[in-house]
Amino acid sequence: MTTVTAAEAAYVVAALLFILSLAGLSRHRTSRSGVVWGITGMAIALAATIGLASRSITATGLVLIAVATALGAGIGLWRARVVEMTGMPELIAIMHSLVGLAAAFVGWNGYLDVDPELTGSLLGIHHAEVFIGVFIGAVTFTGSVVAYLKLSARIDSRPLMLPGKHVLNVSALVAFVVLTVAFVARPGMGLLIAVTVIALALGAHLVASIGGGDMPVVVSMLNSYSGWAAAASGFLLANNLLIVTGALVGSSGAYLSYIMCKAMNRSFLSVIAGGFGTPAAADDGEQGEHREINAEETAELLRDASSVIITPGYGMAVAQAQYPVAELARKLRERGVEVRFGIHPVAGRLPGHMNVLLAEANVPYDIVLEMDEINDDFPATSVVLVIGANDTVNPAAIDNPASPIAGMPVLHVWEAAHVVVFKRSMAVGYAGVQNPLFFRENTQMLFGDAKQRVEDIVRGLDALDAPVPEMAATSR
Ligand code: NDP
Repeated sequence: MTTVTAAEAAYVVAALLFILSLAGLSRHRTSRSGVVWGITGMAIALAATIGLASRSITATGLVLIAVATALGAGIGLWRARVVEMTGMPELIAIMHSLVGLAAAFVGWNGYLDVDPELTGSLLGIHHAEVFIGVFIGAVTFTGSVVAYLKLSARIDSRPLMLPGKHVLNVSALVAFVVLTVAFVARPGMGLLIAVTVIALALGAHLVASIGGGDMPVVVSMLNSYSGWAAAASGFLLANNLLIVTGALVGSSGAYLSYIMCKAMNRSFLSVIAGGFGTPAAADDGEQGEHREINAEETAELLRDASSVIITPGYGMAVAQAQYPVAELARKLRERGVEVRFGIHPVAGRLPGHMNVLLAEANVPYDIVLEMDEINDDFPATSVVLVIGANDTVNPAAIDNPASPIAGMPVLHVWEAAHVVVFKRSMAVGYAGVQNPLFFRENTQMLFGDAKQRVEDIVRGLDALDAPVPEMAATSR
């Protein structure tokens, strides 16, 4: 068997492993094996590619590849080990930016180092691949960098509202089409520089224009773009595995974006067009006074409750409050209180973030319900504990058509008899909009770190159960 045949066979095996990996990652229970399939596929793909390359490159080239692989693997392992769960989306965003950057470099390399055997229409196709690859790669690169900055709170998460922003986006796309035709007819470095600059600006602008509430869709959309960027590089490098893998990532990312848009009642086209139709940040106006409650009073409220719904959000993840929350749920259930969890599809910073945290703390699956399963039950609920959630329980999404989160489905927590909101201050949530829930008659704020406050409540419940000293004396 020749090296080429062996490498092509290895590519087929790797592609099948990537498909198995995607299937595994689609369910919580099989996600670990999905990751193992993916790692195995990537190891086979790397070995086969290096084997193929070894036929035509020097020993120095091979050493450079080994150094680059070791360096990349080392950085990847280190980042994945130290990253907090809450920091995963920004890690993913920065990884996508590297895929985009690599695709743009591959495109430029394809321009500078043309195979002399390519002539006629094949050369035209090659130049079209170069131009499209650089464009998709550069859009993905800056889009992902801006997403990283927003997700890590290094820049404001509110949408950038440049005057005529949609005209700017459409003009960039039209310029891309015109320049592609010109480049294929007469490839020149000036045109390639122009498209690189336009694509870098377009990527940054598209993502900057999208509000914080829509960032989950942006992350999956950039995932899709990075797949198409890799596929474009695959065409340029005539690497079938890169084409297949890029198409798998591109299409699965596009499908995930579509599912998330449906869950959040957003138009898919509006989001990929840089937040087309997104209202400017609403004037939050005067909201009135909020009321406060302490942990002991909350324990008393819970002691008298017949049903409790807990709606966790990003703050529960930050505080790592899932363990005391699970303990509180267990204690209340022992007392005969009906306890359930209501999970918003984009609560936290990752799809499924809350489910993973609650599973980690051994909360039984059957009391963890999705938003659609629980939203009608709030009016019959005694107490709702909003633990570090904000945007996902904001009634402005329903009541205020001018709000940047207008139309996004939210948990109707305010319909319960009592709502206790756990947070550290009156600060806004990720979307940067004020939450009128905090000022409602039936809402009370419990300030402080969510973990400490829940632990205080657990102690408060124990204290309520303990016999009072006189009674203890009498019974002795
Ligand atoms: P938010 O991000 O809207 O709000 C979290 C709240 O937690 C804040 O108001 C903060 O208030 C509070 N908080 C932070 N730390 C603590 C702490 N230690 N103890 C107590 N409270 C704390 O949360 P949601 O989960 O409701 O909404 C998620 C948002 O993130 C949505 O806008 C969503 O679109 C977006 N997003 C979601 C992604 C996903 O895939 N799930 C990905 C990217 C973005 P304070 O500072 O006052 O304590």
